[in-house]
Amino acid sequence: MSTSFAEPVLAWYARNARDLPWRAPGATPWAVLVSEIMLQQTPVARVLPEYLGWMTRWPTPAALAAEPAGEAIRQWGRLGYPRRALRLHETATILVARYGGTVPADLDALRALPGIGSYTAAAVASFAFGQRHAVLDTNVRRVLARLAAGQPWAGGSSASVAERRLAESLLPAEPAVAARWSVAVMELGALVCTAASPRCGDCPVARECAWLAAGRPAEAPGATGVAPRRTQKYEGTDRQCRGHVLTVLRAANDPVRRADFDAVWTGQAQLDRALDGLVADGLVDPLPDGRFALPGGAPLLR
Ligand code: SF4
Repeated sequence: MSTSFAEPVLAWYARNARDLPWRAPGATPWAVLVSEIMLQQTPVARVLPEYLGWMTRWPTPAALAAEPAGEAIRQWGRLGYPRRALRLHETATILVARYGGTVPADLDALRALPGIGSYTAAAVASFAFGQRHAVLDTNVRRVLARLAAGQPWAGGSSASVAERRLAESLLPAEPAVAARWSVAVMELGALVCTAASPRCGDCPVARECAWLAAGRPAEAPGATGVAPRRTQKYEGTDRQCRGHVLTVLRAANDPVRRADFDAVWTGQAQLDRALDGLVADGLVDPLPDGRFALPGGAPLLR
């Protein structure tokens, strides 16, 4: 079954894959890991410049682990969900302490790292080490549901047992080919078999597609499989307030007084809540003199 899909999808990928630095032949396992963490909740276009800056500054886990966690948060820029920066820093520290500064190839070892769940572990093991694992991100799940199961994409936050079984049944036997198949299906989902408007006319497996053959039965309303884009309110939210607080701290060379945040946010209760949340998340250090700093970024208080 897999052969009829694999050949055209792999051939399509060879012709159409985006030229992304974490897919380049020389990309290290660390580069793949960093890219996967950044891509967890952020689209490729926004990740690219931040990824390049990050890898230039910290080409190895040891380089990142040698700096305070606050520098990771500073470098994270406006990628959003900055706890990922903290987890990457924790991961780099663990890699240095336990793995000699390298990324482990073992799936369980990867899964045990901060911020790395089943999907990311499988992606790193496949893309960095050429292993054979079902890599089930939203794009892959959507393509396989349509193509092989003939089902409208139902969405859902995590892969079901049935989806996992289907993906595993379709994996080519040869590990290196399976790894390439995984990234190829992912790319097909990102570029052709998209959530909102699949371009079946450009699809390399249109003839084999069960969902197309069934006349593209309707998908559940809202089952786009992507983060809900319906104008998710951001203006005025605690998340926006946290973002402003971090922007101030990133730009500052010295710790910041509480009053200095008033310039970027007017609601005092919300500002306090944002600061409390950032402190609880380990993204901001409250200093004994009442000022605030990125973690590990406070100079010795005089
Ligand atoms: Fe997706 Fe259409 Fe291709 Fe089927 S034919 S896999 S629905 S793009």
